[in-house]
Amino acid sequence: MSGLLSIEEALRRVLARARALEAEQVPVAGAAGRFLAADVTAQVDLPPFASSAMDGYALRAGDTPGRLPVVFRIAAGLPADRALAGGEAMAISTGGVVPDGADSVVPIEVVGESDNVLEVPAPVDLGANVRPVGGDVRAGDVLLAAGMRIGAAQIGALAAAGVAEATVTRRPKVVVLSTGTELRAPGEALGAGQIYESNAPMLAAAFETAGADVERIGPVPDDESEHRRALERGLEADVLVSSGGVSVGPHDLVRRILAELGVEEDFWGVAVRPGKPVAFGARGGTLVFGLPGNPVSALVGVELFVRPALLALQGANDPGPGYETARLASPLRRNPARDELARARSRRDDDGTLLEPLTGQESHMIARAAGADALVLVPSGEGELAAGEQVRYLRLS
Ligand code: AMP
Ligand code: MG
Repeated sequence: MSGLLSIEEALRRVLARARALEAEQVPVAGAAGRFLAADVTAQVDLPPFASSAMDGYALRAGDTPGRLPVVFRIAAGLPADRALAGGEAMAISTGGVVPDGADSVVPIEVVGESDNVLEVPAPVDLGANVRPVGGDVRAGDVLLAAGMRIGAAQIGALAAAGVAEATVTRRPKVVVLSTGTELRAPGEALGAGQIYESNAPMLAAAFETAGADVERIGPVPDDESEHRRALERGLEADVLVSSGGVSVGPHDLVRRILAELGVEEDFWGVAVRPGKPVAFGARGGTLVFGLPGNPVSALVGVELFVRPALLALQGANDPGPGYETARLASPLRRNPARDELARARSRRDDDGTLLEPLTGQESHMIARAAGADALVLVPSGEGELAAGEQVRYLRLS
């Protein structure tokens, strides 16, 4: 494997092929995690009418302090049947329509009422506790922009603005295909030389959290015709992600058979540790990732390349990967030739986040990696990153 790509160049090539999929309409209530395919405009002013921010009394600030007859009681959803005249007050609940003629609301806590007469001891500020029409957003204005991920607050905003259905990018269909004659499903008995298959469920979980519809195939034994059949099926998806079989061994069949099936390889080999032998290509509209079999290598490939691709396919504004910065708690040796993503555990101190590299940084050590919540980017070079140094890292969810 010569001419390893940098992480940045490999990512650039992946994203260049990851165009947003088509849009579809979904009910807003079920749109969590989806990405808006178009700007959404508010259907109504928010608030739709001048409303009270407090339980209290609507009145004219100019009439205060003073004693005012209470001429109506307004509840949320039950407006007054007439305008308020000078010298009058109307009781009002939070969310009630501030009546025409009133300009302010005085909270119930600072006044007294007896025999339908309100006693306002102190002057009320003009406009106090009145939420103006459209103070949050105006009908026709952009409420949420295309490419935004819909979370709880966005669902609230869409519903509040009267939007029943959101136009979102459809979810990518992803096939996860694991290869290796040695692989057995958890729950089965292990024979000589066998290990439990862990990549497919791990990858499926990662892709589901990234918004994909995932199907798992395999484990597929290291056999040409079995590979051909499984890979051909996987190529019907939007994204095919295989694990294993992309190295240089005699049983590493994935790249050759993908090529035979018409997949155009874009790159093979990235200057990263772990995860160097990652392959990427496409056939028609299907993106194809060949991740290495070592579980931590596969995990790194997901965070660096596959997750960003899945987010880009969903039209995300910023598909990532989203590096953050923090300080290193203890030193990390640099690799002269390859950038490294070291597993670390984060903790907080008074100055922010500290990253403690874990022991057991080898690419097969998924049990150790499971204790990590961060991948620290250790740029290639001589020497080491010192304790206390600022580093970039990816948060693991
Ligand atoms: P490969 O990339 O196929 O050469 O595999 C590299 C290493 O990862 C070998 O030790 C494999 O047994 C292991 N491996 C491959 N696929 C998986 C998998 N799906 N789950 C767990 N380990 C795997
Ligand atoms: Mg293998």
